[in-house]
Amino acid sequence: MSFDTVVVVDWSGAATPSPEKPSKDAIWIGIARDTGTGTEAVYHRTRHAATEALSALFETEIAAGRRVLAGFDFPFAYPRGLGAALTGTDDPLALWAALAGRIEDAPDNANNRFEVAAEINRRFPGNGPFWGNGRARDIPDLPRTKADHANPFADKRACEAAPGTQPTWKLAGVGSVGSQALLGIPRLHALRQRFGAALSVRPFETRETPLVLVELFPSLIAKTVSDLAEPGEIKDRAQVRILASALRAMDPAQLDAISREGDPVEGWILGLGHEAALEAAARGTAPAADLVPPRLRDDCFAMPQGVTWVPVDAALERLRAALHPVIGVETLPTAQATGRVLAEDCVARRSNPPRPNAAVDGYGFAHASTGDGVQRLPLVRGRAAAGQPHAGTVPPGAAIRILTGAILPDGVDTVVLEEDTATDGTTVAFDGPVKPRANTRKAGEDVTEGATALPSGHRLRAPDLALLSALGIGAVPVHRPLRVGVLSTGDEIVPAPDLPAAPHQIWDANRPMLLSLARGWHYEAVDLGHAPDDAAAIEAHLTDGAARADVILTSGGASAGDEDHVSALLRRRGTLTSWRIALKPGRPLALAMWQGVPVFGLPGNPVAALVCALIFARPALSLLSGAGWSTPRGFTVPAAFSKRKKPGRREYLRARLDAGGAAEVFRSEGSGRISGLSWAEGLVELPDAAVEITPGTPVRYLPYASFGLV
Ligand code: AMP
Ligand code: MG
Repeated sequence: MSFDTVVVVDWSGAATPSPEKPSKDAIWIGIARDTGTGTEAVYHRTRHAATEALSALFETEIAAGRRVLAGFDFPFAYPRGLGAALTGTDDPLALWAALAGRIEDAPDNANNRFEVAAEINRRFPGNGPFWGNGRARDIPDLPRTKADHANPFADKRACEAAPGTQPTWKLAGVGSVGSQALLGIPRLHALRQRFGAALSVRPFETRETPLVLVELFPSLIAKTVSDLAEPGEIKDRAQVRILASALRAMDPAQLDAISREGDPVEGWILGLGHEAALEAAARGTAPAADLVPPRLRDDCFAMPQGVTWVPVDAALERLRAALHPVIGVETLPTAQATGRVLAEDCVARRSNPPRPNAAVDGYGFAHASTGDGVQRLPLVRGRAAAGQPHAGTVPPGAAIRILTGAILPDGVDTVVLEEDTATDGTTVAFDGPVKPRANTRKAGEDVTEGATALPSGHRLRAPDLALLSALGIGAVPVHRPLRVGVLSTGDEIVPAPDLPAAPHQIWDANRPMLLSLARGWHYEAVDLGHAPDDAAAIEAHLTDGAARADVILTSGGASAGDEDHVSALLRRRGTLTSWRIALKPGRPLALAMWQGVPVFGLPGNPVAALVCALIFARPALSLLSGAGWSTPRGFTVPAAFSKRKKPGRREYLRARLDAGGAAEVFRSEGSGRISGLSWAEGLVELPDAAVEITPGTPVRYLPYASFGLV
């Protein structure tokens, strides 16, 4: 779902109207509609006037069928606990209603926020949680400074770990967002009532609605704002203008995904963790969602002069040094990111498990109050179950019924397994001693908050989606899929097996094989068809490929003979390097850049084409895609065959394991024997040096699966 209009509001907790002349520390509203037409910035003197203007704007936009994202620079929620204490539920929107019922905020900005804060303070032991009095006189129950207050709740929300944020409890002084929230939330509550089902507040509500409200923090891109502000522009004005146009310029899917991130109780600052994407969008230097890395240099495949035969490992090293990721980044909902490559480290947003909990069904108690021999503990009323925490404390010497996954109630640190107990419903009996913390899981024993759960470059698989979701990571920055173009060449090739083939013609075997490999490697396979042995035709196909793919694999015509039209063309264009690799099967590998896109000229022979694709193209494509270089993991097995091999080149034999786990090889090494590729389940790799193999000699076996071949 994308947004047609982005509104950014810089709010104010002022007690009197702001000056008539547009000034700082007042309400500013940035409105970005179409990416092309610039952004408006409107000044308002009072919250009342600003809210009226916003209502009118939202109504017009919704009536015109436009979707609106409206962001406000004050907290939408408080640290965990306040809502539950005031409303009986953790739902922040219930707290919105409760505050709206207490706050009075006149059209001239006169308001009772200090009195409401003091009233809330009175409900808690100590003199917190709110503090900060900007008036000359003391206000009973509202500490003047942070130093003289005692807060029963956390000082900050998880998202307020971001630098420069202020606590929601702070009502006076620099950046007193506390006052802005107390005076902003009731206004948003009124908007909710006015727009009803057309409005949702993220991340608390996930419905698709024409109007979406989110919390923002313009300082996330402070440096960019100061770079892009007009000379002499009021900072508040620059912030709303630049942030609104950045959000409007962002990739819609990315914006939608990040607007859903966050904690359902404490809320979230939209864009936290995505500052780079926001900044790029603001600067318009790159389409924000697609930070395109530098292109490869045209001479990246150059080989040192005078090199004759390059050993496989040296060729791989050169390839690795020549290439780097060429793929941009976008943010996807985690659930849709299977097969994609992480573009950043994924950091746990909270610990797993978040709190200590029970690992079994049984009875929980304090270990310190138990000992050896038969233990008989009275049961407290109620129980603790997963999703149904027990609110009370279990006194020392008592026990509570507890089920797997339940948070350990206060007073419980140890659980005895149900099967090891007897109970009559009022007492539970079991044999001591029980080990301290038995049958419990420690908070964070799996992953701790802030730990890197998965590193950049990791390709996401089903279990990774479980891990990320468990850690509250709902969206991930991933590389876009690498587009791999595949082109076959040769006058003898008939493009598809359903077309007739004369005896001098053969059906194209390489293209379906290479396209299938690319798909199996999670790339976007782009079929570039077939070109005859004709320079103009090959040129046209390569040019088409450079527009539609990030890398091109060709097969056929890659050697240096009269009929090797691919290499001839690439050489005329000046970027070809033929790598004479000491490898069997495989003739020279033609490497070139075509209009900025790397071209891997594979041999035409299907056996050699597959081996070169697995050995060279696979790690190269992986590097280009952002997933890093890859090396197949093989293992050593006894040979089930005999072979004498001369020194000087690496050999790969079509192989599979026999019933006894020894490697047998295909009956023929003929490179035209496609049936051997299908017969095989992997390759035996023979080293560059000479070897004499007899049955039982250890050889290195690389299963097809180790090349990601499915
Ligand atoms: P080339 O590399 O063009 O000299 O081709 C070497 C051998 O591979 C020749 O026998 C070609 O007919 C064969 N060949 C080339 N391209 C393909 C293809 N796409 N499918 C099957 N065989 C091919
Ligand atoms: Mg040919």
